[in-house]
Amino acid sequence: MSDRMMRQGLLRLSTIVGIAALCPAAMADDLGGSEACLAGKLQRADWVQSSKALDEETGRDLRHFPPDRIVDYLHMKLQMRFDDLDDMRFTATETLRFEPIGTAASAITLDAVGLDITAVTLDNSAVEHYQDDETLTLRFDPPLPLGQPQEIVIEYVCDHPYTGLFFTPSSPQAPHYTAQVHSHGQPETNRHWFVSHDFPNERMTTELIVDVPSGLAVSSNGRLVSHRDDGRRAVWHYLQDKPHVYYLVSLVIGRFAEIDIGGADSARPGLPMTVFTPFGTEAHVAMTFRRTPDMIAYFEALFDEPFPWDKYHQLIVRNFAAGAMENTSATTFATSFARTPLAVTEGIIAHELTHQWFGDLVTCKSWEHLWPNEGWASYGEATSSAHIIMPLSRGLATNTVSKCCA
Ligand SMILES: [Zn+2]
Repeated sequence: MSDRMMRQGLLRLSTIVGIAALCPAAMADDLGGSEACLAGKLQRADWVQSSKALDEETGRDLRHFPPDRIVDYLHMKLQMRFDDLDDMRFTATETLRFEPIGTAASAITLDAVGLDITAVTLDNSAVEHYQDDETLTLRFDPPLPLGQPQEIVIEYVCDHPYTGLFFTPSSPQAPHYTAQVHSHGQPETNRHWFVSHDFPNERMTTELIVDVPSGLAVSSNGRLVSHRDDGRRAVWHYLQDKPHVYYLVSLVIGRFAEIDIGGADSARPGLPMTVFTPFGTEAHVAMTFRRTPDMIAYFEALFDEPFPWDKYHQLIVRNFAAGAMENTSATTFATSFARTPLAVTEGIIAHELTHQWFGDLVTCKSWEHLWPNEGWASYGEATSSAHIIMPLSRGLATNTVSKCCA
């Protein structure tokens, strides 16, 4: 993502914290005064306060940054069901595998905003939990022993998320304008659609199993394990089996034209590469994205490191606010890239592609170190232009560039 978009995201985040700091009384009422706010059997207890993210009196953030890692999150399996994309909601079962580090774990706090959490279990037994506007806190009594893997299962409903997961409804006046869903997690908005340690100092493998109406395409991180479609419902199963960070977890659902830009004859055979684009834009997008294999081969040689992931999707979606975003193995682009001139598009492709190494394979531990991610991406954009884009343009046909960018 560009520096400007990232600064805007962090500004929004600091504004939310600032508003909370101005309203301690309102927060205290919401958090502690209402029985409706208490999940399960709990009265608010000291252990909740001791592991909370914010001081209720002052709004001050109690966590050290990067936030303390009480446990090591190893794997997230997220099973989701969308009955109808126009409903703007889904039900989910999230399984988190983790192990305590440093000491036995008596309580952990996860980021979760606006999720209707209906159950939390560990080994089929209910877990005491407390939810407020920002977090979900779990209590373990006796504490979970050091170094032993555990699995918690969280059942919830996500209904009209405020941000993080964006629903574009269909339009009765435009039959081709079909419903879509896309995510955008940077810097800290994925917490609006799944429970997470939503900060880049934690990495884990992820797995999304997405149940949608038949005929819809689904993209997420990693490789496609399976796809079943019985003509009524379809289930897509993606596995990201190399660890990555929460903000790069991605989901896109919709109807797209799919363009295969890889293949045995490409500069990077063996790596599946598909571009998802609105119907009717296939010819332009096939032209503007066609050098992606050349760029991947070039960066592999330049960085002396193979492309890190199992496939590379590039997805052009509606109402995407951030220009383009380097989600692990599945970069998202704004609708404008279905029509954007070649010279502009190729620079952004190179930028997001460089992030697959710098940002995704190697990730900043905290946001003040974001600049190496963006510095490398800017370097990749420039060097690709000098060593790949311009030489290929001269070698192929000058009319390719001159026609679209004059
Ligand atoms: Zn970037």
